Amino acid sequence: MSDLYARHRAVAPDWLALYYEDPIEITHGEGRYVWDANGKRYLDFFGGILTTMTAHALPEVTKAVSEQAGRLLHSSTLYLNRPMVELAERIAQLSEIPNARVFFTTSGTEANDTALLLATAYRRSNTVLAMRNSYHGRSFSAIGVTGNRGWSPTSLSPLQTLYVHGGVRTRGPFAHLDDAEFIAACVEDLKDLLGHTRPPAALIAEPVQGVGGFTSPPDGLYAAFREVLQEHGILWISDEVQTGWGRTGDHFWGWQAHGRSGPPDIVTFAKGLGNGMSIGGVVARAEIMNCLDANSISTFGGTQITTAAALANLTYLLEHDLQGNARRVGGLLIERLRAATADLPGVREVRGRGLMIGIELVRPGTDEADPRAASAVLEAAREGGLLIGKGGGHHTSALRIAPPLSLTVAEAEEGAAILEHALRSAC
Ligand code: PMP
Repeated sequence: MSDLYARHRAVAPDWLALYYEDPIEITHGEGRYVWDANGKRYLDFFGGILTTMTAHALPEVTKAVSEQAGRLLHSSTLYLNRPMVELAERIAQLSEIPNARVFFTTSGTEANDTALLLATAYRRSNTVLAMRNSYHGRSFSAIGVTGNRGWSPTSLSPLQTLYVHGGVRTRGPFAHLDDAEFIAACVEDLKDLLGHTRPPAALIAEPVQGVGGFTSPPDGLYAAFREVLQEHGILWISDEVQTGWGRTGDHFWGWQAHGRSGPPDIVTFAKGLGNGMSIGGVVARAEIMNCLDANSISTFGGTQITTAAALANLTYLLEHDLQGNARRVGGLLIERLRAATADLPGVREVRGRGLMIGIELVRPGTDEADPRAASAVLEAAREGGLLIGKGGGHHTSALRIAPPLSLTVAEAEEGAAILEHALRSAC
């Protein structure tokens, strides 16, 4: 055990889990690579859990951060803040939400808290719909809509939550159905729930479940849900903390895979926007955003330095069409990984869109989730110089691949080769 790890163990909460038997201390990064304290280089296929959206040490972001730090480090929502206004304008327009208003937070959890605060206040109901196997954060209210109990501490949530089927296509009672039947069964389930409860304020859902193992329902599920929700005046909150900013390749926002439904009532975002700086936020129609009787809800509602970083990062992403890159390079990577694992009985499926790729591991010859194999592959990939993630809801048997969106074809090939080797040695 390293000295730093021993000190961490002595001072940090026991539940603060680290990856790897011998956890890594990352000391610097560049492009799609990071280095540890011993000088070992890793190709980063997890982008600091998707926080490094574009690239490590992106010069444009570094410049924006250092210029702002040299000018003013300050935070208050009491004064005008130019980068915040400019960033909010960009996001309002990108959101497609008509008459959109934007409020910034410091994290995804806080963004979802704010969305729930808005929806419950607007609808005067503390009943909320959420998806099974979901993850929305670990604050008091975010825990209350996180279906993935294994990833959530127990709490006495202030919300009354009803969990809906459909976030996961591959497991559960409807898994044997084809896409259209699956959607119809989930809609029936939703209608059934609505028949037995007071009107919920909102449905909160991730278009592709992140912590749940990069798994998604068939396109169109949320459009079908939307019709039912609208009949009851229930708001749709799309948690885009993992799926936003073009990560899924075909779409800028995850909800757009359910296109005919139009934009959600509320969108939450975080993670990659600041390229490692701590920023999140909420976009909502003005009538919803303005329903709060408040003069602010956070001192850190978009600081100069985080919004300046986010603006530089978003500008880079749009100017370099990183969404297109995610589609092209992600598509190649998925194909390459499917071909490489076709003969491996421990690999149930390689799934995903763009640069959000999940690999589901099972005990060979069965359909049983294999969390032990997922941990073993993580260790073997690390040995080979590749960082990946794991997840998969209750089972933690999925590998998660989410590199910075500027990944090159050569780097995709390099990572796929290391991962194939790790899978063959560990599964
Ligand atoms: N929503 C989703 C979909 C997430 O994946 C996460 C983080 N994994 C959160 C919300 C919470 O974000 P944060 O960790 O920034 O609070």
